[in-house]
Amino acid sequence: MIEVATAGNMVEAMLMADELKSHGIKVFVSGGYLSGAIGELPADSVLRLYINSEAHVDRAKAILTAFDEAKQVQLPKRWCSHCEEWLEGQFEHCWQCGNAMPDPLKPNS
Ligand SMILES: [Zn+2]
Repeated sequence: MIEVATAGNMVEAMLMADELKSHGIKVFVSGGYLSGAIGELPADSVLRLYINSEAHVDRAKAILTAFDEAKQVQLPKRWCSHCEEWLEGQFEHCWQCGNAMPDPLKPNS
């Protein structure tokens, strides 16, 4: 097991793990069972993401860096014309109906 990241909280850890999984990288989160102790322990030293393949370490770190950078950008909300639901800008697919969303950075694509 190779540590590729630490997370500030369980939600962040799960989002990071989901991002790696979506790129086909198996990931394990450790320390979630200690979240009850957070307050006494710094969270970022508790929640750690591990992968089991040395070959994927560089790729995993690059994916997480890109993921972190993407979070900094506030994308405008988007409207799903398929099911008529508002979505946060970072979603590539509608959370409700799965409809693929147009690229928010290209007008009317
Ligand atoms: Zn939809």
